[in-house]
Amino acid sequence: MSESIFDLSSPGNSGVALPDCMELKEPIDDLLPKEMIRKELPLPEVSELDAVRHFTKLSQKNFSVDTHFYPLGSCTMKYNPKANEEIAKLSGFTDIHPFQNADEIQGTLEMLYNMEAYLCEIFGFNAFTFQPAAGAHGELTALFMIRAFHKDRGQPSRNIVIVPDSSHGTNPASASMCGYKTTVIKSNKRGNIDIDSLIKCADDSIAALMLTNPNTLGLFDEHILDIVEVIHKAGGIVYYDGANANANLGVCRPADIGFDIAHFNLHKTFSTPHGGGGPGAGPVGANKKLEPFLPVPRVVKDGGKFILSENLFPKSIGRVHEFNGNINVILKAYAYIKSLGASGLKQVSEKAVKNANYMMGKLKDYYYLPYDRTCQHEFVISAIWQKEKYGIKALDIAKRLIDYGFHPPTIYFPLIVEEALMIEPTETESIKTLDQFISAMISIAKECETNPEIIKSAPHNTPVRRLDEAKAARDPDLKYVKP
Ligand SMILES: *Cc1c(COP(=O)(O)O)cnc(C)c1O
Repeated sequence: MSESIFDLSSPGNSGVALPDCMELKEPIDDLLPKEMIRKELPLPEVSELDAVRHFTKLSQKNFSVDTHFYPLGSCTMKYNPKANEEIAKLSGFTDIHPFQNADEIQGTLEMLYNMEAYLCEIFGFNAFTFQPAAGAHGELTALFMIRAFHKDRGQPSRNIVIVPDSSHGTNPASASMCGYKTTVIKSNKRGNIDIDSLIKCADDSIAALMLTNPNTLGLFDEHILDIVEVIHKAGGIVYYDGANANANLGVCRPADIGFDIAHFNLHKTFSTPHGGGGPGAGPVGANKKLEPFLPVPRVVKDGGKFILSENLFPKSIGRVHEFNGNINVILKAYAYIKSLGASGLKQVSEKAVKNANYMMGKLKDYYYLPYDRTCQHEFVISAIWQKEKYGIKALDIAKRLIDYGFHPPTIYFPLIVEEALMIEPTETESIKTLDQFISAMISIAKECETNPEIIKSAPHNTPVRRLDEAKAARDPDLKYVKP
């Protein structure tokens, strides 16, 4: 061993030669740019074991599908099979360079090609793009395509996108980002779009209608075929927000209903981990009318080979994402579809719908159910009874659920239900877990009568109590503070 910065003769040193990798010729401070050197708050000095315990404990303070029931409505927090992670880790996929040419990434392109065929079969569309990185990105992509379609037909003045008042906030936001104005249509007493209002505004200014079906109330629109017809007659495009597709896999296909274009959230329906901002994938499917406008490059088969083609699609809107999208998310969803098969996917939706109806039936005596009809994969109850009698809000009930060991449902959404609690149990939960959640919700309803204060001051067992959640997310305080 050559000369070392470590003083081997110092007391406490056994004189054992250090491995080469530890040989540092200069003090570490001389190697780092001066401005990068920490001036205050030295890092805590702890052993590796203490560090491991610290981070393991921190990780367990969080909620996740792997540790807790997570009925966050509209988000489809189902279990993500671990086998899919192994497949996404295969080095043939992970070790490719983004700039490698098509000849060298035939496996990845074949996967994308097959996945496109699967999604076409599941949802009935003609073709898909995998570029969009999330649902909202898919919406924007689809709206760019819709704009290009109208322009191509010589009707560029169509400038209105219709959304129902139950729509997800991303729908009007995407429309606005694409330069459209939005018209909001009211839902009726059964939670369907009010078709008379729709007819009144369906004229030649309409570019598209954006619709989630089942909608965010968890209800399948009973007049969906009439709605599609009204928009088509007015020359508009019918857009399907596929975030709730977990309710209709193998049961009905949006393209068969008449939807022209759609996005799907692979990270919701096709079981890839999400939350905390991603990564996700929001592929967009289009029927014959809209297909020419899909982003390029597209994977096409040329003889026995897969190529990335741009020049076959002169009407394309171009690129919306680097390279070929979030491949590892697409890969996990591909593994999920392959492992379940057609009958497995149908069972997913059937069980998701059964689980939701089971819970809704058990809870409707304790919480107000604004739309009392068969739901799809999720349902919305309201805390107005509790608010009127005891001053307890949906937020308080959500916080109290944390004490019972459950992730709260989505609250205050959709906007049309006062004190909304939107519950999506998903298909991967056992009847035992559903019953535990139901019994927690019933206990909380009883506590509202007997001990309202315990609910208003919940949660009681968490490391932090009530946070300013918007501030905590936007302006987190991550500094190390010496205890
Ligand atoms: C989640 C969701 C979206 C947006 O999808 P992201 O992947 O979060 O961007 C759009 N519409 C509905 C109904 C949703 O639930």
